[in-house]
Amino acid sequence: MNIAVDPMIKIEKVKNSRINDVDFDNLGFGKVLSDHMLVCDYKYGKWQQPQIVPLQNISLDPSAKIFHYGQSVFEGMKAYKDNNGQILLFRPLDNQKRLNISAKRLAIPEVPEAYFMEGLKILLKLDSDWIPTADGSSLYIRPFIFASGEGFHASPSDAYKFIISCSPSGSYFSGKIKVLIEEKYSRSANGGVGFAKAGGNYAGQFYPTQLAVEKGYQQVIWTDDNTHEYIEEAGAMNIFIRIGDTLITGPISDRILDGITRKSVIAIAEDEGIKVEVRKIKVKEVIEASQNETLKEMFGAGTAAVISPISAFGYRDKDYDLPKIEDNYGARIKKRITDIQYNRAEDKFGWQYLVE
Ligand SMILES: *Cc1c(COP(=O)(O)O)cnc(C)c1O
Repeated sequence: MNIAVDPMIKIEKVKNSRINDVDFDNLGFGKVLSDHMLVCDYKYGKWQQPQIVPLQNISLDPSAKIFHYGQSVFEGMKAYKDNNGQILLFRPLDNQKRLNISAKRLAIPEVPEAYFMEGLKILLKLDSDWIPTADGSSLYIRPFIFASGEGFHASPSDAYKFIISCSPSGSYFSGKIKVLIEEKYSRSANGGVGFAKAGGNYAGQFYPTQLAVEKGYQQVIWTDDNTHEYIEEAGAMNIFIRIGDTLITGPISDRILDGITRKSVIAIAEDEGIKVEVRKIKVKEVIEASQNETLKEMFGAGTAAVISPISAFGYRDKDYDLPKIEDNYGARIKKRITDIQYNRAEDKFGWQYLVE
């Protein structure tokens, strides 16, 4: 492929691609990184010219603020290749906007839209052979910004790095998960950073999740930090609960992240004629629905797995199984979303973004 040097973005290509060393039949998720990455530095009060360079390590001073104060935000998105070899993204402008929403909350300067979008497009064209084509696989894209400025003083950094790195990844399907409704620890709080994809949010989830894993669960269901009476998220995914024929999800807030998959699930469900309610969901309501057998489905929604079906949940030392049902909303909605992502179906929502 002949890539013109973009006046805005400087490109340095790898001398030797590593692609032939990669076992595309056993990719796993997020393990192997593609040949190139986009790097953009913030210094002297502005974002400098973005560059695409061969994948390489980053060298930082021990006093760099990312190490001490966790000033970092990230995004997660995917690129797909359709049957004609076209590169497609799914609602990428929503990721671009959300990265800046997260950045603002962490006192990180916002990245110009063009640096993100143009940089990403050039990177994808350069590494297009790294986009896997096997069913369910895609190129996982990880844009992130972190504080690279130096000094132990607890204050916002004066230097940052914005990087986009990509990883060819297989299908994320991990089987049905068993989850534990958490009543002690919280993922987020009013006025906090739960709505942002801030690195520290995930560090704070690891320990409670480890405790749940020791008890035989795979994930934690987060409840509100104040009363622990309301269901909020499933691990790092939004959560949907089907009671009878109604699909329910919590409203976004300071504490619930505005997931792009969540928005897409709501739109598809409504298009399918499924009744959707966006409202607070009491744990008690879910327990009662389980007991009177109106609880039909629970699933997580997020970019990595699209839909993660939940097979059972634990609450106060008791487990509740989800029934096996015929007309599964989660499976139906997942098919519709992935058909749009891989350009196998008409996209009446305008979600597809062709990388040309
Ligand atoms: C990223 C994320 C989601 C899902 O967002 P998508 O845009 O659908 O990938 C949900 N909850 C949390 C806490 C997240 O970090």
